[in-house]
Amino acid sequence: MGETLIVVDYTVDFVADDGALTCGRPGQAIEGRISALASAWLEAGCFTVMALDRHDPEDSFHPENQLFPPHNVAGTPGRSLYGRLEDAVRQHRDKAHLYEMDKTRYSAFAGTDLDMRLRERRIDTIHLAGVCTDICVLHTAVEAYNLGYSLVVHADAVQSFDPQGHQWALGHFQNVLGAEIREQNEKVEV
Ligand code: ZN
Repeated sequence: MGETLIVVDYTVDFVADDGALTCGRPGQAIEGRISALASAWLEAGCFTVMALDRHDPEDSFHPENQLFPPHNVAGTPGRSLYGRLEDAVRQHRDKAHLYEMDKTRYSAFAGTDLDMRLRERRIDTIHLAGVCTDICVLHTAVEAYNLGYSLVVHADAVQSFDPQGHQWALGHFQNVLGAEIREQNEKVEV
């Protein structure tokens, strides 16, 4: 069975200093690692997913509009992939193994065709990277667990604005969702 890498919300709004809902320096610190992971997967021709928030601040029914300032608004530069991740992904935009998808909730599975895309490809293991560890990465991991996927979380390629939330979520991935936690300095393997 196959594996995929899902990079969650590594966009300008979530990472850049002037991003609308930024996790700031911790998010910027994983730029090299996240870009290297994405490059390795894409160069190997493995199915690689960029799962990105897409929001409409005028939608009064969307719960996040009560909870957070507008972020990753459709059609704005804030939705662009951050820094070197954009460089790593750009050259693969015409390839079928790159899937850049919109999501409107924390989980990349909520209201999307991601589960079908993975099952079509006989993928049963999901590698996770991105931000924030304790929000969108967490909710994506929980839904993947409930759908029966195995999980690998790249601890050096996830981050949060909240260090305690980050650490708690890493423990939750391992102890409650049965995820394998890949630690820093390990070779990127695909
Ligand atoms: Zn959002």
